[in-house]
Amino acid sequence: MNQHYPSKSRQTLSKRTPMRLSKQQNYQVAAIETMCHNAGQILISLLSYKALSTTDLQENFLMNQTFNVAKLAKIYANKSAHDILKLAFHQFGDGLWVSFSGAEDVVLIDIAWKLNKNVKVFSLDTGRLYPETYQFIEQVREFYKIDIELISPDHVKLEPFIKEKGLFSFYKDRHDECCGIRKIEPLRRKLSGVSAWVTGQRSDQSPSTRSKVAALEVDANFSTPKRTLYKFNPLIQMASEEAWNYIRMLELPYNSLHKRGFISIGCEPCTRPVLPNQHEREGRWWWEEDTHKECGLHTRNIISKE
Ligand code: SF4
Repeated sequence: MNQHYPSKSRQTLSKRTPMRLSKQQNYQVAAIETMCHNAGQILISLLSYKALSTTDLQENFLMNQTFNVAKLAKIYANKSAHDILKLAFHQFGDGLWVSFSGAEDVVLIDIAWKLNKNVKVFSLDTGRLYPETYQFIEQVREFYKIDIELISPDHVKLEPFIKEKGLFSFYKDRHDECCGIRKIEPLRRKLSGVSAWVTGQRSDQSPSTRSKVAALEVDANFSTPKRTLYKFNPLIQMASEEAWNYIRMLELPYNSLHKRGFISIGCEPCTRPVLPNQHEREGRWWWEEDTHKECGLHTRNIISKE
């Protein structure tokens, strides 16, 4: 018997008009059914394609562009932190590291973690942080169940420095040398094995040095002639108020020093609370006249302004 039963409709038809098909007729019917099936699949694909929003299509297009930093920086200048981080993960995957300073950039961790539960995070442990900051780092580690890699200063450089100049030399001869040993060298060491990193810089933290920072850029401080390092600044357009609304609404952990008037939080000897209407940066290295208050992690911000 050469009866062909490929589908329910054909069984129904056969019941109403029983007929015998030749072998050739059965092949023809099967061919027509295959064509109809394929046409249906194409229609379904087209409908799903149409169902994608214009935003999705634009995003897919941007994600698949060649990684042209200058061009993408312009396109992403006004995009959300979420979009900027999504691009960063798409481009660099496991080569991407998020820097955590122990202050409001918990917002950065939150958005990154929601995009990638295996997000890699590091923090610079200068050895002079407030106890509250160490407690906060532990809180964040527990809250997200993530590892936070702490990078310490190189004791070979630190010990002779302390021996020669003591523990508070920065009050006499500026913060640059101490920051160089406790922050810049450890960061350079960490970034030497990294393709791209993410910072929590916001332009309103320091209008004199951060107002022109791009959403993504080549890190001119830490790239080498042999290796280009990329830096993403997803919070650059986020105002302090917006960051705090985010923290409060989602009930994220935050550094308890914020309850005591601290805004910008760094090392204990070099940070103090500010008074109402004082800019947050005035609480850092207050004994120095300089208006360009950066610790060197983002020195390019200063160079580009001069
Ligand atoms: S902020 Fe102060 S204590 Fe911390 S590394 Fe810089 S100078 Fe040293």
